[in-house]
Amino acid sequence: MKWFTEDNLDLVTLYFGEPDSTGHKYGPESQERKDMVSQVDRAVGYLRRRIKENGLESTLNLIITSDHGMETVIKENEIYLKQVQNFSFQDIKFELLDYGPNGLLVPKEGRLEQVYQTLKNAHPKLHVYKKEEFPKRLHYANNARITPLLMYGDPGYLWVLIATPLPFQRLKVQFNKGEHGFDNNAMNMKTIFRAVGPAFRKGLEVEPFESVNVYVLLCNLLGITPEPHDGSLEVMQPMLADSSNAGTGDQLLLHATQCSGCRGLYMGCPPLLGESNSSEIMRLCQNNRFGVSICHLISEPSWCMGGHVLKLPLQCKG
Ligand SMILES: [Zn+2]
Repeated sequence: MKWFTEDNLDLVTLYFGEPDSTGHKYGPESQERKDMVSQVDRAVGYLRRRIKENGLESTLNLIITSDHGMETVIKENEIYLKQVQNFSFQDIKFELLDYGPNGLLVPKEGRLEQVYQTLKNAHPKLHVYKKEEFPKRLHYANNARITPLLMYGDPGYLWVLIATPLPFQRLKVQFNKGEHGFDNNAMNMKTIFRAVGPAFRKGLEVEPFESVNVYVLLCNLLGITPEPHDGSLEVMQPMLADSSNAGTGDQLLLHATQCSGCRGLYMGCPPLLGESNSSEIMRLCQNNRFGVSICHLISEPSWCMGGHVLKLPLQCKG
């Protein structure tokens, strides 16, 4: 608490390695994991009590979140790579297969198509893609570091590598009873988000949102201009207690710089932005006041979500 009461720090982050470790070791449904959740909960309770005792409740915002959930590893019908007909590690130049449910493969020169065809329908729970065909919604493959072949298992499914003939001896590498890294659409991959403090409305339950929005929320709370990012402050706006500073010209400019790859910009905060301000926004857009040198408006702005959000359809100029 001294960090706040004496050192006057603006942002402090704490990381808890649990209940992740226990979840991996014993599985998310195990008693060990439940006990660990209770222990972490007690730590959070202690933190909140100390915040209160130090008179920080009215000035300090506390956010508790995580980066993933946990799925029970299914031990039946496992994906045995060595049993896949015609698959051989001798066709592979580089592989990363021992780190959760995702696999990266670089086939040897000229063998990509062969390896792909061999693995493609090898197991109903195994998904194999060429890099360029990897599902866009996963925001994963568009990077030079990603290998030409990618694969992932359905929730709960890991692959098992066991001994193949020498010299390409492969051992079983997956022992965890709990795992994460599966498709983020799966409910068990969802994580938690709790926030309490003067910036947040009390007792509010919001719709699920993507964790990528947390960064811009933190920037907003700290009063700093975010670097380019893929989140949206508008998604987080409904949970904020006081949006009275939103909707001003400055705020609009700030929002607009967050147009994040120009897939369209959503702006929130009515009733401060009334219909009259919609034309003002239009005017700012046309005058390039949004700093949208890389974006332009492709159609009329429109109110959506019951008039709570203004949608600005933007498109990249470049
Ligand atoms: Zn983990």
